[in-house]
Amino acid sequence: MHEMTEVVLVTGGSRGIGAAVCRRVAETGRAVVVNYAANRASADALVAEIAEAGGTAVAVQGDVRKEADILKMFEAADALGTLVGLVNNAGVVDSKQRVDEMSAERLERMFAVNVTGSFLCAREAVKRMSTRYGGKGGGIVNLGSASSKLGSPNQFVDYAAAKGAIDTMTVGLALEVAEEGVRVNAVRPGIIETEIHASGGVPGRAAELAPKLPMKRAGTADEVAKAIIWLLSEDASYTTGAILDVSGGRAILP
Ligand code: NAP
Repeated sequence: MHEMTEVVLVTGGSRGIGAAVCRRVAETGRAVVVNYAANRASADALVAEIAEAGGTAVAVQGDVRKEADILKMFEAADALGTLVGLVNNAGVVDSKQRVDEMSAERLERMFAVNVTGSFLCAREAVKRMSTRYGGKGGGIVNLGSASSKLGSPNQFVDYAAAKGAIDTMTVGLALEVAEEGVRVNAVRPGIIETEIHASGGVPGRAAELAPKLPMKRAGTADEVAKAIIWLLSEDASYTTGAILDVSGGRAILP
C-alpha cells in the first residue's frame, strides 16, 4: 500500500460502536485497521463489507491488555500506509457488583483493558503521528462514558472510575502533544444499543432504561461514530482536549 494512504486504527472494531466507526472511516477514503479480541467472524465480515463498498480494511487480532499485541496492531497499520488516527474504543464492563464485592482479578481486567490498553495505544499513535518524531500529525479519540460522572453505584464503580481515568488522560495527553500536530479528544456515550450490556449480564439494559433517558430512547452506535468521525476530521482542527457528551442528554451536568 502507498505511504500516502491515510490509516486509522480502531481498537475493538469488530462490533458495536467500533464497527460503526470503521464503516464511517472507510467512507472517508481512509484505510482502517479493524482490531478485535476474539470475534474473528465479526471482524472478517466487516472487512469484507468495507471492501465490497470499495474501501480498504484489515482485521487484526489483538488483546489491548498485551503490549506485544498492540505493537502488532500498529505494525499492521504501518504496512497499510501513514497512521493519521487512533480510536481507543476497546472497552469492557462487568456484571453488577458493589465495590465491597469486587475481586482483584476483576479490577485488574477492568483497568488493563479500559485504561492501560488505551495508554499504550496512545503511546504508539503519538510515536507515529507527532511532529516530535517526524510525523505529520493526526488525531486520537478516546471512548469515555457518561458513567465517569455518574459513578455507577451498585453497578460498576470500577468501570466508571476507569472511564474517569480516560477523561483525565484525554486532557493531559492533549496538552502534552498540542504543539506537535496531534489532537486528542474523547466522546462520552450515554446508553447506546450494543452488545456491551449483555456482556455485563443485562442484555435488555438499553431498552429498560430508555423511558428514563432525557430523549426517551437509547442511542445508536452510528450516532456515536458520527461524533468520533467529526473529532478525527479536519473540521475539528482547533478542537483538542475536548470531552463531547454523546448521551442524548444523560449526565450532561458536571
Ligand atoms: P461492545 O459492543 O461490547 O464491543 C466491544 C468491542 O471491544 C469488541 O469489538 C471487542 O472485540 C473489543 N474488545 C473487548 N475487549 C478487548 C480487548 N481486551 N482487546 C481488544 N479488543 C477488545 O462495546 P460497545 O458498546 O461498542 O463499546 C465501545 C466503547 O464505548 C467501550 O469503550 C465502552 O466502554 C464505550 N461505551 C459504551 C457505551 C454503551 O452504552 N454501549 C456507553 C458508554 C461508553 P471482540 O468482538 O473480539 O469481542
